[in-house]
Amino acid sequence: ALSTGTTVRVEDDTFTDRDGRLLPVAYSAAPIMVDQDVQGLVVVFTDVSARRAIEQRNKRELETLSWVGRNRDALDEERLVLYAQPIIDVNGREVVAHELLLRMVDRAGAIIAPGRFLPAAEQFGLIEEIDRWVLAQAIKLAGRGIKVHFNISGKSLGSRELISDLMRGLRDSGAAPSLLVCEITETALANDEAVAEAYVHELRVLGCEIALDDFGTGYGGFSYLKRLPLTVVKIDIEFVRDLPENPQNQHVVKAIVNLAEAFGRQTIAEGVENQATLELLKQYGVDFAQGYEIGRPA
Ligand code: C2E
Ligand code: MG
Ligand code: MG
Repeated sequence: ALSTGTTVRVEDDTFTDRDGRLLPVAYSAAPIMVDQDVQGLVVVFTDVSARRAIEQRNKRELETLSWVGRNRDALDEERLVLYAQPIIDVNGREVVAHELLLRMVDRAGAIIAPGRFLPAAEQFGLIEEIDRWVLAQAIKLAGRGIKVHFNISGKSLGSRELISDLMRGLRDSGAAPSLLVCEITETALANDEAVAEAYVHELRVLGCEIALDDFGTGYGGFSYLKRLPLTVVKIDIEFVRDLPENPQNQHVVKAIVNLAEAFGRQTIAEGVENQATLELLKQYGVDFAQGYEIGRPA
């Protein structure tokens, strides 16, 4: 602006304020002209945080929408697969069950994690169909005598179709219902508590076991422990991963074990990434463990 005498506008820059905070800004610089000479410059900054936030939200929403079609295609083209991750008994170290974890295979054969495609399915209604497909696979494995944990979304709690699939599947396969462990997250239960609670009871009456997933990350944990007919509580990765170095997490894990024991529930620690963690879990009386140190989902 100084050299050419024209106004310059910049739409996308970053401004560092006195406290060192970075602000997204647009600015214009206009020369002050006196008798054809540039005598100075007026610079006006505009904070564009709000606009930037809207742009980013739109981008995220577009990304989610783009997954809706891809989920439909994956279901139709049978490009969903289940990986299995072993769960061991902490004392004897033998494998007692496997958790089934969903993956999508894209048309080029690449594996896509559930965190990328499930949010769109949950938001736009395909999740029930996906959860029913997962249940069907779980029942087949249970029919062969394999104990499996499967995850269902909060959106599917209340699904009549899922329950009738389960009843029919159990009858046709002759699978022992106790070989099926349904994993439900704390946050999923919070959606509609009355419906969720009735649903969990129904699953339990059919003989399936119930695991409360990601325990410790939601708000209702203690009350679910008391009210729901849970079999087992899964201690969230967040409290387990760095257990040997993190005294606060050690307190949390010990407290969860005490609490679960008081209510007659078993415990599974998720996200065990080293032997030192496994040793501590044994000391604390955790029943089962799962994690990369024991076996990756495969
Ligand atoms: P989740 O049920 O809590 O599953 C545990 C997640 O932790 C899995 O991620 C697993 O791969 C990962 N994990 C296991 N061991 C370790 C470890 O040692 N360290 C670390 N850092 N991570 C570990 P994944 O497979 O990406 O699944 C993410 C979530 O997606 C699951 O959390 C579950 O909520 C959901 N999900 C997975 N499969 C299904 C499904 O079939 N149906 C539904 N509705 N949700 C599913
Ligand atoms: Mg799970
Ligand atoms: Mg979990």
